[in-house]
Amino acid sequence: MAGKQVRVRFAPSPTGGLHMGGMRTVLYNYLFARKHQGRFILRIEDTDQQRYVPGAEEYIYECLKWTGLQPDESPLHGGDYGPYRQSERKEMYRQYAEKLVEEGYAYYAFDTAEELEVMREKMKTPDNPSPQYDFRVRLQMKNSLTLPEEQVQEKLNSGVPYVIRLKMPENETVKFHDLIRGDSLFQTALLDDKVLLKADGMPTYHLAVVVDDYLMKITHVFRGEEWLPSAPAHVLLWRYLFGEENMPQWAHLPLILGPEGKLSKRDGMKYGFPVYPLEWKDPATGEIIPGFREFGFMPQAFVNFLALLGWNDGTDKEIFTLEELIETFSIERVHSAGARFDFEKAKWFNHTWIKLSPSATLLPEVNQTFKRNGITISDIQMLEKAIDLVKERCHLLSDFMQQAGFFFQYPENPDLTAVQARWNEEKKSFFENLMQLWQETETWNAAELENRFKTKAESLHIKTGELLLPLRIMLVGGKFGPPVFDIAELLGKAETLKRIQNLLDRLK
Ligand code: GLU
Repeated sequence: MAGKQVRVRFAPSPTGGLHMGGMRTVLYNYLFARKHQGRFILRIEDTDQQRYVPGAEEYIYECLKWTGLQPDESPLHGGDYGPYRQSERKEMYRQYAEKLVEEGYAYYAFDTAEELEVMREKMKTPDNPSPQYDFRVRLQMKNSLTLPEEQVQEKLNSGVPYVIRLKMPENETVKFHDLIRGDSLFQTALLDDKVLLKADGMPTYHLAVVVDDYLMKITHVFRGEEWLPSAPAHVLLWRYLFGEENMPQWAHLPLILGPEGKLSKRDGMKYGFPVYPLEWKDPATGEIIPGFREFGFMPQAFVNFLALLGWNDGTDKEIFTLEELIETFSIERVHSAGARFDFEKAKWFNHTWIKLSPSATLLPEVNQTFKRNGITISDIQMLEKAIDLVKERCHLLSDFMQQAGFFFQYPENPDLTAVQARWNEEKKSFFENLMQLWQETETWNAAELENRFKTKAESLHIKTGELLLPLRIMLVGGKFGPPVFDIAELLGKAETLKRIQNLLDRLK
């Protein structure tokens, strides 16, 4: 690899919303590319037109934008190896499929759907309920291995539909090295004769992926474990077309596991937590499924916990910035075993990121959350201070509404019962005195307010503990929130006194 520029790719098929597992593949590709001063390419693999889902490609761009994991080359960003959408490269693939036929590694197959069905019926046994098109059956089928040359030509000339299939060797062991799993061995006898070129002239994924990885000079292929069974066919295609020595290095990433095995995009909100980065609207059903962003996750936290789903740096360190991830990431440290996703742990990451972030960073998103909840904030500086006061208590960005909403919205239904049981004349007169004392102060800050509060309580022989809860209910409306004198400081004199008076009136 020395001297060769690292080029990696994320190659999604736009068949639905990109989920957490896909995003982790993006992330590992991105980190590896950045670490090795390489290029990160996004290639859209849309050769299966029947499974194409409108909006899926745009959704991928949105996810990349939100997480900041932007590609260097893509259909959107351009690049020297385009087009980056396989449907726009259709004409490039046929020559490779035909070259394989010429050299005896592939063949034309003319079997109709009915004939394939007959074969499956005939060959099926209890042990093998859906027989594949492989070396055992190909010599009984209608293809260029069984038909005389002239008949093949005649069919090709007269436009009889055909596919091109890979002629899988009967009895070979295909070996390749996986950067995560080590040496992997596959027996070709167990593999089918994969279709490479379809009747509509479109390549299948198997042909297109190999041709494009070659033409785009890809050096490393990092993709999900579900592609491992396809790898031997890809290795053979590399061997036949471009030379195995030019093949990229492989790494098949472990599955992400949910409560019941593999986590899939079909799980939607089944487990009460998101699997999509961003809200996904299923165009077929119209169903809207919220994503991590809508749940109140910071993109930094999302990227951080994704990185640790299957990788660590060899220490106990868990909080990483993107720069730190780039510096420490190595593909060899990715585990081969499935990585269990734990939503509570993901929230812990988000909580930590919220605590670590300056309130100015949190401000735009929190402001949006307030807006969505019908509160338009005119005093942005006050919001920034409120964020500072409550961020310790927030796991999700959406928690700011609950934790800091009272600063901007008068508590409509204060928890009167919490105060009433122990309310009495002494307490009432304490608060009347307190209002007077706070009214007079020139220095409206938490320390001064606390000082005046305590001195007054002592002089009236009331325990401050007895008075703090009523004060909190007056200012906040409930039994939660940051230190109460900090709240009073931020609310300001007029608002604080108004809230105390209001509750005194209601407690009469
Ligand atoms: N198009 C494949 C997918 O949808 C990509 C597999 C690969 O990276 O080779 O996941």
